[in-house]
Amino acid sequence: MREKAKPIVKGIEDKFFYYITDNCIKCGLCTEKCPKGAIEFTDDRYHIIEEKCIDCGTCSYICPVGAAKPV
Ligand code: SF4
Ligand code: SF4
Repeated sequence: MREKAKPIVKGIEDKFFYYITDNCIKCGLCTEKCPKGAIEFTDDRYHIIEEKCIDCGTCSYICPVGAAKPV
């Protein structure tokens, strides 16, 4: 079990989020596999929409370069 991270979105307590680092090679795998459609491609990079993310870890698990990380 990971320790709880500080909530970074107001009003949503005790929730983890994932984010995508600059190591991303833009393969799009995470977008295909995210069960909540929480990963979008805008401004020439992939972003995780924190409000939609349910902290399942799928993106982190499948990312070939380890670019999707928990906060
Ligand atoms: Fe980027 Fe990893 Fe997602 Fe591929 S799976 S788009 S490398 S974050
Ligand atoms: Fe989607 Fe799960 Fe990654 Fe959140 S942790 S962005 S819900 S695949």
